[in-house]
Amino acid sequence: MTNQYDYLIVGAGLFGATIAERAHRAGKSVLVIDKRNHIAGNVYTEEQVGINIHKYGAHIFHTDYEDVWKYVNKFAKFNNFINSPIVIFDGKVYNMPFNMNTFAQIWDDVVTPEDARKHIEAERQEISHAPKNLEEQAISLVGRTIYEKLIKGYTEKQWGRPCSELPTFIIKRLPVRFIYDNNYFDDKYQGIPIGGYTKMVQNMLSGIEVRLNTDFFERKDEYQAMAEHIIYTGPLDEYFDYKLGELEWRSLEFETEVLNEENHQGCAVVNYTGLDVDYTRVIEHKHFEFNTSPQTVITYEYPAAYQKGSEKYYTVNNEKNDALADAYRALATQEPNVIFGGRLAEYKYYDMDDVIKKAMDLTL
Ligand code: FAD
Ligand code: UDP
Repeated sequence: MTNQYDYLIVGAGLFGATIAERAHRAGKSVLVIDKRNHIAGNVYTEEQVGINIHKYGAHIFHTDYEDVWKYVNKFAKFNNFINSPIVIFDGKVYNMPFNMNTFAQIWDDVVTPEDARKHIEAERQEISHAPKNLEEQAISLVGRTIYEKLIKGYTEKQWGRPCSELPTFIIKRLPVRFIYDNNYFDDKYQGIPIGGYTKMVQNMLSGIEVRLNTDFFERKDEYQAMAEHIIYTGPLDEYFDYKLGELEWRSLEFETEVLNEENHQGCAVVNYTGLDVDYTRVIEHKHFEFNTSPQTVITYEYPAAYQKGSEKYYTVNNEKNDALADAYRALATQEPNVIFGGRLAEYKYYDMDDVIKKAMDLTL
């Protein structure tokens, strides 16, 4: 049977769910499939001891796009959580991102922005040319002291290679502020969907046929014949059976514990920037939602090399991988009825709002 559906959507993450919702609202017939046993992709949350657990890592919604903020608010109410992580290095606590609180913690004589600027300006002189790698970028941004305490260890654990071999753009995302403000993001809107991301995606997919535990590649030809348009949100190289080679990814491993205490670390996100521990972050999920449950749930996040069978979390956007992704993108344009969208299919380091924006702006 051909063209049973107008749209077959491979992947029930935010890209797939946004397209599905738009197409359904426009009166199109839609089938969503996902190989996992749940919807919501990497923003999936699951309740444990009355707390919503971010199963694939901490997700904080933040955006500057008015239309995206308006759109997500149709499917969830957002709380007023503001991400203000702390860093622990050598047993001492620092505020993140880099702001006046951090500078006062680093240098005893810092009280005013002028005091902080003096230290940072002096240290920044170390790099007199345009930064060529992450280490140079970090030093030219905040100086060597902060680089060594708050950036180097975290970044090398996260990416599995020296900062001197990493691209500058990774660190450009982090704000540097000469005000006492611990908000991690500069965006106008921020929050966590009340009741969890899964509930939000469930609302987006309301009235739409969804088949879980269903891998597109197990019956690719059959699925392709089922619909006029295919929206593919899985890995770009996998669609083409890796015929040009494999794209590189970083993976993560999570270890979650339920604790019989009310408040374990006093903060939703604590980053560990030292090489004395293998994890990069410890998440205490209840603090994302101001949950007052008598127990708590924490998750250790360990960066890991990607191996066949593990999850693909981060793209590794270096020259080699970007060139390979471009070659696959050229092949993708030759697939007339397939749209490749989202983090895995575009091989882009997207935030949630970028993914939704892309899906909202696509002409269906
Ligand atoms: P995904 O959520 O990965 O969805 C793709 C779906 O396709 C998956 O469900 C997968 O199972 C399915 N699929 C793949 N292949 C097949 C197949 N062959 N057949 C069927 N189904 C298939 N962004 C923020 O804005 N704020 C944050 O705080 C934030 N924190 C993050 C923390 C971590 C640790 C990570 C890794 C990312 C974070 N992000 C954050 C980014 C965010 O997760 C992504 O932007 C977003 O989830 C991408 O949505 P997507 O639909 O493109 O992909
Ligand atoms: N980073 C750091 N120290 C920290 C937190 C982040 O050096 O305590 C750097 C690190 O290089 C990381 C980048 O900032 O790869 C982006 O981190 P963020 O947590 O913002 O991104 P995510 O991992 O959530 O995509």
